[in-house]
Amino acid sequence: MKCSYCSREAVYYQRYSGKHLCRRHFTSFFEKKVRAVIKKYGMIESGDRIAIALSGGKDSVTLSKLLLELYGGRRDLEFLAITIDEGIEGYRDKTLEVARDVTRSLSIEHYVAKFEDNFGAKLDEMVKVGEKLPCSYCGVFRKYLLNRSARELSATKLATAHNLDDESQTILMNFINADIDRLARLIPQRDQEGLIRRIKPFMELYEKEVVTYGFLKRYPMIFDECPYSYFPVRAFVRDFIYELESKYPGRKISILRSFEKLSNCLRVTNPQIELNRCKICGEPTSKDVCQACKLVGELGKKISVRHNERLVLRKA
Ligand code: SF4
Ligand code: ZN
Repeated sequence: MKCSYCSREAVYYQRYSGKHLCRRHFTSFFEKKVRAVIKKYGMIESGDRIAIALSGGKDSVTLSKLLLELYGGRRDLEFLAITIDEGIEGYRDKTLEVARDVTRSLSIEHYVAKFEDNFGAKLDEMVKVGEKLPCSYCGVFRKYLLNRSARELSATKLATAHNLDDESQTILMNFINADIDRLARLIPQRDQEGLIRRIKPFMELYEKEVVTYGFLKRYPMIFDECPYSYFPVRAFVRDFIYELESKYPGRKISILRSFEKLSNCLRVTNPQIELNRCKICGEPTSKDVCQACKLVGELGKKISVRHNERLVLRKA
C-alpha cells in the first residue's frame, strides 16, 4: 500500500483518519503531534528542569529519546531521568539496564529510587502479606517517590509516558467507579506547593503509534509485562475500549474530548482544594495522612515496612 501523501510504501495505517503513512510521513506526523500537545497544554516553558519518569519500558524510552531530540538543543531547558525500582524480580532489573543505557546515550543525569531503600521492603515482599492488589501499593508508592525525587532534584516538571490508551482507560474507569473527584484531578491543575506538575506529551497518541515510532527509530524496546499487571477492572475496560475502537475507529480520542468538554463543569463542581501536609511525612495530601503513610501503617503490622524520613536516591 502506498502512503496517502507520497509514492513511498506505507508502514502505518491510521484507522481513525483512513490514512496510510510511509516512514517519513508517520514520524513527521508523530513529532508534530507531540509538539502540538506540548504547546496546547503549555507543558514545557523556558527555564524548565524536566524530570522524565523513565522505567526503561518501551513508552518511557521513546519519551526520553524524543524529548531530547526535539528539545535537547535548547539551552534554556534541562533534562534528567528518574527510575523507580519497585523490587519486582525478573522484570524491573531488565528495564533498569535499558534505562541506564538510554540516559548514558543521551548524556543526562539519572537517579534511581528504590522501594527497598525508602520503605524498607520490595514490592515482591509487600504483595505477599498485603491484602490489596499489587498495583494499589505500587501506584501509591511510585507516585510518592517520583514526586519527592523530582522535587528534591529541583525539577519543575515531571514528564510521564502516559498515552491515549492509558488516558481513555483512566477516564472511563473513573466514570464506572463513580469517582468524579478522581476524574476531576485529571484536569491540568494550577501549581500546588510540594507537588511537581506532571506533563504527559503522549496523551493524545495511541499506544500503537508510540510503539511504531520507537520501532522505526530503532530505540531499545522491551515488551515484557509486569508480572502483577493483572488488574481486573482496568483489563476489562481496556478490552472494551479496544473492541469499541476496532469497530468504530476514533473512540479513544472522543473519550478524551468528552472529558475535555466536561472539564469546565468539573472545575466548578469539584474545585481544586488546598492541600495539607501529611502529619507523618509532611508530603502534600488532601487528607490528614497521605495514602503512602496509610499503606505503610497497614503493611508495617506484618513486615518491617517503614517510612524513611530522608529520601534515598542513588545515581544510576
Ligand atoms: Fe506496578 Fe501494577 Fe505497573 Fe506492575 S503493573 S509496575 S505492579 S502499577
Ligand atoms: Zn505521608
